Amino acid sequence: MLIKDLMITDPPTLERNAYVYEVFRKVNERGIGRVIVLADGNLTGIISTRDLVNLIDLRCRSSCEKSDVYGLIYRTAEEIMSPQPQVAYEEMEPLDALTIMVARNFGALPVLNSAGRLTGIVTEREMLLLFQDIDELLSVRRFMSKRVKTAYKDATVRDAVSIMARGGFRRLPVTDETGKVIGIVTASDIIRGMDKEIRKGNPEEYVRKPLHEVMNRNVLTVRPEDSVNQAAAKMIIERVGSLLVLDENGKAAGIITERDLVIALYHQLHLTLR
Ligand code: AMP
Repeated sequence: MLIKDLMITDPPTLERNAYVYEVFRKVNERGIGRVIVLADGNLTGIISTRDLVNLIDLRCRSSCEKSDVYGLIYRTAEEIMSPQPQVAYEEMEPLDALTIMVARNFGALPVLNSAGRLTGIVTEREMLLLFQDIDELLSVRRFMSKRVKTAYKDATVRDAVSIMARGGFRRLPVTDETGKVIGIVTASDIIRGMDKEIRKGNPEEYVRKPLHEVMNRNVLTVRPEDSVNQAAAKMIIERVGSLLVLDENGKAAGIITERDLVIALYHQLHLTLR
């Protein structure tokens, strides 16, 4: 298998002078969580959901009024993109692309053909498909994060943005007064919610909403003794990027995301090849 067999073709793109509110709309297209920025049709940058969360956090640090949000969404894609992203090539082996993703901590690589034209994108999600063909050797317990950061249900979207931006992650389990997990909020939920409210003209009201109003109540779980292959299969089937490990009281004892699974995959493939 080569990268061209794994990649998503025709990825979401915008020209560099597009406004950031268009990025909010595009970044959720087909669940990819990235927009590729073009200059006259050629690859020049990339913007991820994580970048947008970080921008909202920065912009809203002192206040989060309408003017603060509008100050952000009328900037251009070029001003906020990561320029000259690392790429993969259609004819590359998936393991080589995986190595770049793990070593450089990138969640996605735009894909170019041999003529240097953009033809696709490969993300952590596509890499998870590689688990189908390898032995079940590694457990969830070994690769999950054990100190799970959670937020109380009355905390606001603004609070969630700040916790995610400071923690460098994209998922936040939501708890009730006993600490039991009752929902989860992800960076892509927040960006989708912002996009909707930007269209209605009230993005500043959205960031003040309590998490219990915006969270997803369908919390998907995995057992620590399950294999990472099983976790990957569940994420693919359920179309989510994370699974929680809960203790007997329903409190968060671990979280495993597509990022952790990509690291596990890298581990296993390098071990097997040695
Ligand atoms: P993500 O960007 O959400 O894929 O996560 C990046 C890293 O942070 C992974 O190692 C996750 O296990 C970890 N992580 C994600 N969400 C949380 C959380 N709420 N608390 C602690 N660690 C987390």
